Amino acid sequence: MAGGLFARRALFLVRLVRAGKPVARSGDVPRRARNEAVLVLGQRKLLDRLVPGLLHAFIFWGFIVLFPTIVMAMVAAVDKHSEIPQTWFGDLVDVFVLLVLTGVVTALVIRKLVRPKRFAGSHLGEADFILAMIAGVVLTLLCWHAAAVAAGIETHAGFLANAFAHAFPSGGPWERLFVWAHLCFIFGFLAYLPHSKHLHIATAAVNVWFGRTRARGRLEPLRFDVPDDEMRFGAGTVADLTWKQVLDGFSCTECGRCQDVCPAHATGKILSPKLLIMGIRDQVFSRSDAPIAGNGVPEDMIWDCVTCGACVEVCPVSIEHVDHIVDLRRHLVMVESSFPAEAEPMLRDVERSANPWGKPQTERAAWAEGLGVRVLEPGDPAPEVLYWVGCAASFDERARKSAESTAKLLQTAGVDFAILGPREACTGDPARRMGNEYVFQAYAEQNVSTLNDAGVTKIVASCPHCFNTLANEYPDFGGSYEVVHHTELLAELVREGRLTPAGGAGSITYHDSCYLARHNDVSSAPRELVAAVGTPVEMGRSGKQTFCCGAGGAHMWMEERGTGINEERVREAAETGAGTLAVACPFCTVMLDDGVRASGKALRVVDVSTLLAESLAESDSSDTLSS
Ligand code: SF4
Ligand code: SF4
Repeated sequence: MAGGLFARRALFLVRLVRAGKPVARSGDVPRRARNEAVLVLGQRKLLDRLVPGLLHAFIFWGFIVLFPTIVMAMVAAVDKHSEIPQTWFGDLVDVFVLLVLTGVVTALVIRKLVRPKRFAGSHLGEADFILAMIAGVVLTLLCWHAAAVAAGIETHAGFLANAFAHAFPSGGPWERLFVWAHLCFIFGFLAYLPHSKHLHIATAAVNVWFGRTRARGRLEPLRFDVPDDEMRFGAGTVADLTWKQVLDGFSCTECGRCQDVCPAHATGKILSPKLLIMGIRDQVFSRSDAPIAGNGVPEDMIWDCVTCGACVEVCPVSIEHVDHIVDLRRHLVMVESSFPAEAEPMLRDVERSANPWGKPQTERAAWAEGLGVRVLEPGDPAPEVLYWVGCAASFDERARKSAESTAKLLQTAGVDFAILGPREACTGDPARRMGNEYVFQAYAEQNVSTLNDAGVTKIVASCPHCFNTLANEYPDFGGSYEVVHHTELLAELVREGRLTPAGGAGSITYHDSCYLARHNDVSSAPRELVAAVGTPVEMGRSGKQTFCCGAGGAHMWMEERGTGINEERVREAAETGAGTLAVACPFCTVMLDDGVRASGKALRVVDVSTLLAESLAESDSSDTLSS
């Protein structure tokens, strides 16, 4: 009967997943197998937090090792003289019985006594019930073997069963009682599991297998070249969700790790990536055709996200929160025309002026006047490296400094480079992260056409958002280039001895941009440069665990309610005692500089390229002085 209940529910769940819209998640088998080995079998992300990770690993590994004992119990239920085949296996079973019980007790202590904030909003009662069921499964397993030893039926039981055998009389119904109690717990668990919110025990491994294998910073493009009935404009109702998004909901363990690292949540916004996924899952189960935004998920939650990817990075079961959020935005923007009013000028300016600042394109290369930078004209020979300046460094006064420094450094090192000047348009990133896929794709096609016509093969980008779009998203539109961040190219030039910094810039703390360190694994090159010019000092959250500056997901142009994410990051930077807060992103420059001004901290916010240029200038002047 339990098998029937399980199968009926499993069929229902499979039908829900199969009803999802298509999304390509086949191929890349070696990478998927590796993810399965590392994330599922190895429990890698869970073990990032040692105690809760170990307790989960004990329970998970315990169930793998103890799986054969289920078959043995079924056989023993009809033939009580069947027994554990080898003493070593009996001992192994008992080791894992102990580990699972340790895991269950530790989990209960954490849930009942420590009560971490990350569990706020999770179904704690159900989780407790599941832990009790797991304890019941292993305790009845132990008692069954101990009673069998006492009755003289079993001779190869493990050390624990042998030790507990003295607690049971040699006669009586105990062995029969416990083997059936054990089977009742197992079948009860089997029947209950797919009906509970802790379904992840059955679906997590599948979700990890079908997780993203391509670049983390890449968004799945919408297709506008397909017949109308196949076209998708993001996610309005559950009928618009892809099958992976439905499976994501079924796989959430409600562990709250994503909520714990979310900068929006940490600064008091309504957004919790965990509650967002749970809200979508509840709406899938209710089979409601009401809009997700405003029902399963409050609309403000959708707009609070800075697309930093911290949630995706930390999720142990490969849930893709950013894809959900951007899909919800796509529907709101492209179908409902509903988005925060303050984002309207940015979207309009990107659409009309090819940059979010609304400045004329003719002024795009104004920062380079007098610097002798080659502006690539149609028909010109392609440079060795195209410098993609980006809108922020072209138009924002504070961010321009990094473009000037980068250009001077490339000239000093003798790199053959050029810029596109007025022919460089916004990559479309802010429009895309806001949900306007139409505008993004129009710019993607325009920029790819310009770059391909110019014969560009290698690009250096200062802005991590441009870098991410050029490297990871333009290949979907026919633009495949070698793309490097300016810190990578500059670090290479320092290594080659083509740039020789003097050092002495004092203590510097480096802030990792989410789109560089987390989405694109670039964190060592900027640190090499910081170490070359001054004394590095790390913040608590760095590298892939960085804390956003608050600008991503088009938030550079949106009002922020409550505590600023940038202010929280500046507070953390100031705690290091460093005098300089180094950045490698024009958005971070602006946001953190605003944060410093708001908080009155004594910190200088400056791009790594400017620090390097200053270090060279100082070494030049000291050379001059000493000669
Ligand atoms: S991407 Fe960042 S801001 Fe958005 S939900 Fe995830 S952690 Fe929060
Ligand atoms: S989405 Fe992932 S990290 Fe967040 S609660 Fe669910 S399983 Fe945990």
